[in-house]
Amino acid sequence: MSKVRFEKTSKYDHKVSIAIVGAGAAGLVAALAAKDNGVDVMVFERDNVPSGSTALSSGFIPACNTRWQSAIASIDTVDIFVDDIQRKNKNQSDRRFVRNVCSVSADVLHWLVDKHEQEFILLDQFLYPGHTTHRMHAHPSRTGSALINSLLEAVERAGVDVVCSAQVEDLFAREDGTIHGLSIKRPDGIVERVGCDAVIFACNGFGGNRIMIDEFIPEMSDSLYFGHAGNKGDSVSWAKQLGASLVQMGSYQGHGSVATPHGVLITWAIIMEGGIQLNSDGVRFSNETEGYSEQALNVLKQPEGIAWNVFDERLHNLGLDFEDYRRAEEAGAIRIANSVASIADIIGAPVDTIKKSLEEIDNFSKGNLSCPFGRIFEDKKKLQGPPFYLVKVTGALFHTQGGILVDNQARVMRSDGSKLPNVFASGGAAVGVSGTGVDGYLSGNGLLTAVTLGYLAGCFAGEQAKKS
Ligand SMILES: Cc1cc2nc3c(=O)[nH]c(=O)nc-3n(C[C@H](O)[C@H](O)[C@H](O)COP(=O)(O)OP(=O)(O)OC[C@H]3O[C@@H](n4cnc5c(N)ncnc54)[C@H](O)[C@@H]3O)c2cc1C
Repeated sequence: MSKVRFEKTSKYDHKVSIAIVGAGAAGLVAALAAKDNGVDVMVFERDNVPSGSTALSSGFIPACNTRWQSAIASIDTVDIFVDDIQRKNKNQSDRRFVRNVCSVSADVLHWLVDKHEQEFILLDQFLYPGHTTHRMHAHPSRTGSALINSLLEAVERAGVDVVCSAQVEDLFAREDGTIHGLSIKRPDGIVERVGCDAVIFACNGFGGNRIMIDEFIPEMSDSLYFGHAGNKGDSVSWAKQLGASLVQMGSYQGHGSVATPHGVLITWAIIMEGGIQLNSDGVRFSNETEGYSEQALNVLKQPEGIAWNVFDERLHNLGLDFEDYRRAEEAGAIRIANSVASIADIIGAPVDTIKKSLEEIDNFSKGNLSCPFGRIFEDKKKLQGPPFYLVKVTGALFHTQGGILVDNQARVMRSDGSKLPNVFASGGAAVGVSGTGVDGYLSGNGLLTAVTLGYLAGCFAGEQAKKS
């Protein structure tokens, strides 16, 4: 149980300037930024090998005004990026906060490359839903595991200690909320105490805590959680005890395309480039291009909580560019239908219904009919089959987006508007930029606040620790 113990002083086994809780993208970026400030940093990670949701992710980081965008003459500005995020969350997020993270997004990626030997490419094959321009950056291998491994190499080069198998349990605080240390529990039950001048919460949200999900996001109580199991909401517990402000707690990223029962993410690029979703009756039920996050709920509302992604050879080949998709293929999740009758057979729906659904798409693409859900079908992206490809998918909870309110330096705010003296929050531990529910999540919002708030927290905690 994560507690805050209010004790004036404590005896510590070790001492460090900045203690960071969690070694995902947020924690590792924060560590690099703090270390660049010349201060002592330790990252505590509950797992024996750091991975977090970052390793499970596709590792796509949105940023504007970057050198990779300039190289392809893609025009993107802070204003355009902020507008895209705010349009998606229906202006439910604080525009100044959104602007703050977008404003540093390019600097953070450039700094990671120039100072810490990271590599990024710009993904310019297709536009993710809601983005008006290409701004997804990724490690060349386009996986979250490559991103985390590359960041781990950088923190090692920088001389940061990442202490694994070290679950942070208790924080020790003075009455004014100043944290002066924490305790870590080892797998063998041994507890060590570490003194610190500042602490950064980078332990993500509460997706792995069913009780908190029941409390804050009851609509996903029974759904599959697809994020890192170790994200138990410790920052939420500490925040409550410290009087910190927790906001937009019902906000989360869902995903409507997880192959079932295989449990592999099927890239949404396939849907954006022309694929469709049919339910087990063989009918479409939504505008699939609104976003994959809200599609989680749309899919879960269908019979048995499942849908079928239906696409063609061109889109299958596009999918093969993604490691997850290749894994899904290996696992037998991708089914091939050589006729409309075969689609009906696989789905278990009447052949006439499937035929009608496909004919409708054809008419939407030619402009003869309008999609009742508002999706615009482009003729050049029209499904061309047989063969058709099918994957049975379900909706899942990926990660929570509500969390601790922070200021423009990633400092933790109290409910009364004051700041805690030496506590910072980043990534999924802090509130995101996705509004209040499932439909405000613009692709990439997760890693956007992981790397930008991680960077800001590391810089400002570093400055503060240097002074103290
Ligand atoms: C399948 C999937 C795909 C995704 N794809 C993308 C994408 O392409 N782009 C994007 O922007 N976002 C994506 N996301 C979301 C993204 O992964 C997260 O927003 C991001 O990784 C959060 O980073 P983080 O550092 O805050 O958390 P994490 O990477 O989860 O790291 C938190 C770490 O804290 C540790 N921890 C927790 N509690 C404690 C404790 N008490 N003591 C010590 N350690 C603790 C955990 O073990 C974990 O290692 C995806 C998510 C999923 C699940």
